Amino acid sequence: MKLDQILAPGAKFEPYWWEAAPRPVLPEIPAPSTIDVAIVGSGYTGLVAALTLARAGRSVAVFDAEAAGWGASSRAQGHIGLIKRPFADLEAQWGRKRAIALLQEGQAAIAFAKDLARRENIACHLNTNGRYIAAATPGHYEALAREVDTLKREIGFNADMVPRAEQHREIGSDLYHGGEVRHDEAFLHTALFHQGLLDRARQAGAVIVPHTRVTAIGREGAAFRVATSRGECRAGDVLIATNAYTDGVAPDLRRRVIPIGAYGSATEPLSPERLASLLPGGRAGIDTWKLSHSFRPSPDGSRLIFGGRVSMRETDPKRSAPKLYRFLMKLFPQLEGVKISHSWTGKVAYTFQTAPHLGVRDGAHYAMGFCGYGVALGPYLGFKAAGKILRRNDAHSPFEDLPFETRPFYYGNPWFLSATVAWYRFLDWRASRA
Ligand SMILES: Cc1cc2nc3c(=O)[nH]c(=O)nc-3n(C[C@H](O)[C@H](O)[C@H](O)COP(=O)(O)OP(=O)(O)OC[C@H]3O[C@@H](n4cnc5c(N)ncnc54)[C@H](O)[C@@H]3O)c2cc1C
Repeated sequence: MKLDQILAPGAKFEPYWWEAAPRPVLPEIPAPSTIDVAIVGSGYTGLVAALTLARAGRSVAVFDAEAAGWGASSRAQGHIGLIKRPFADLEAQWGRKRAIALLQEGQAAIAFAKDLARRENIACHLNTNGRYIAAATPGHYEALAREVDTLKREIGFNADMVPRAEQHREIGSDLYHGGEVRHDEAFLHTALFHQGLLDRARQAGAVIVPHTRVTAIGREGAAFRVATSRGECRAGDVLIATNAYTDGVAPDLRRRVIPIGAYGSATEPLSPERLASLLPGGRAGIDTWKLSHSFRPSPDGSRLIFGGRVSMRETDPKRSAPKLYRFLMKLFPQLEGVKISHSWTGKVAYTFQTAPHLGVRDGAHYAMGFCGYGVALGPYLGFKAAGKILRRNDAHSPFEDLPFETRPFYYGNPWFLSATVAWYRFLDWRASRA
């Protein structure tokens, strides 16, 4: 499939979400020279921390090397879902009590993100209709059903199975083998959510300093010297909220997050009837392949947004678009001839434990490693990190008790990803034959 065969006239290689919420142009202001809290990264994590701290009376500056929200927070598909680790897996690693605590914390993050959008009155098309998890194989369907039973028992999870014979009520495709509806999960317009948080943080008094890279963070007694591309700033506390974009400014954290490419595309406009025939349940969905795919209606119901891990490293969207399109044709062959209006890429941050982390290193706070679930976890752990800076009693999160591991010879360039992708492709191939 050639690129020019699948692109609609005027197709763009940037997020569909930027049509409604372009990267903001903020007033040029001098970077502050003294501040209570300096935050590195202006995505969901940094902004919710900034909002919380500013409302508590702290002076806050949020630095971003690019435009505000340029990272994953304006590129995501907008799914608000639970961390992706089976209960048995967590239990085997950390015991039943901690497995329950981690999953309950994941549920708290979902509730927090939904509540935040509502409480702050952010017009971001929050849809609380739930999410659909599509089983890629009969074996995956059985595993989903077992997991639903376990999660209902252990954490009161609110989900129901949809057998293959009934899956057309959720998806107009025969590619899958049934699935699971997760009723408490949700989805939203990712860049409008970000824009709303940006507005609230600025209204609360936080100073946003875009196009300003933080180049070094050093201690100065109990405080910090924050060197940026536009001068130096003295800060009482620092929060590093750079997730998959963590660079040399935090080399120790960079060794602990694995940046992985994630890809999104939008179709050209479809009629409401046609879109409803593809996703009759009106929910966002994701499948169970190791190299998973996602799909959802656009907030205005005009087009299908879909995505996947077509390559682990971030690659040119001109290369990812044809690969994603091939998947689209397998999922919905009835869309043959429909073209792509937008295709984009970004980075998600995995960790060696496939769990997010929150903590303090060399005195600087951090919250990162959301493993593709940062639409819920970013805001929630940004809030928790702010709570820790404010020394609030309720700021503890079970995610901060996990060891934040690295591996020998890993310094932030994931040289092992090609082998991992090959292994995942093999596992998916084997599962498809079982
Ligand atoms: C295509 C795609 C689809 C996704 N879909 C979903 C989804 O459906 N659901 C979900 O939960 N998650 C999804 N994610 C992941 C989710 O978007 C992220 O986990 C989340 O947005 C992370 O937010 P953040 O604020 O921690 O980091 P980001 O939003 O990535 O922000 C980090 C910022 O740090 C800045 N930065 C880095 N280094 C420096 C420095 N030295 N100085 C100054 N600034 C710096 C970067 O410029 C960047 O803007 C997706 C991601 C992508 C790319």
